[in-house]
Amino acid sequence: MTSPGARFDAQVAELRAEGIRVAALDEGFWLPRMIAGLGFVGLGLAGTAYVARRYWGTDEGYVALRHEAAHVRDQRRFTLPLFLVTYLLVLPTGLTLRAVWEWRGYREHLRIDLEDRGRVRPETVEDIVAAFSSRGYGWMLPVPRVVRWLCRREEARYRGRRGRRMGSPGDAHT
Ligand SMILES: [Zn+2]
Repeated sequence: MTSPGARFDAQVAELRAEGIRVAALDEGFWLPRMIAGLGFVGLGLAGTAYVARRYWGTDEGYVALRHEAAHVRDQRRFTLPLFLVTYLLVLPTGLTLRAVWEWRGYREHLRIDLEDRGRVRPETVEDIVAAFSSRGYGWMLPVPRVVRWLCRREEARYRGRRGRRMGSPGDAHT
């Protein structure tokens, strides 16, 4: 098992090779610093995955890198203006598409659990439930039942993909 520091550094190198910059959230220009001031660990914006300096070299920092890189990839794929407008725009119903984008970031937390331990830890699910119900994210999906269902579905999909890649253990009998 690699150390948290080595794993973090390897992820930074991987992202940089992919063309994603990595920077400290609480250093540099005003916007990431403001986000850090609001208590967030990271930010994915315009080609850069920002992670607060105190998390560099830690497991939390590694999770944040993966989460923010997912946002950066989505901004590339769907374009930054579309991402930002749909992330920030409050529709007449009070809903935004923020939950959709954040789900794509938080999915990485589940995948990391699955890669590391072969299962999703209940505390990871509850952290995600709490984030989706939190004021910091504007109560983007304050329905724990739905968030828990999304987590279960993601785990099942991950296992399905892995099962197909590795060959089902049941195949030998049939
Ligand atoms: Zn996010």
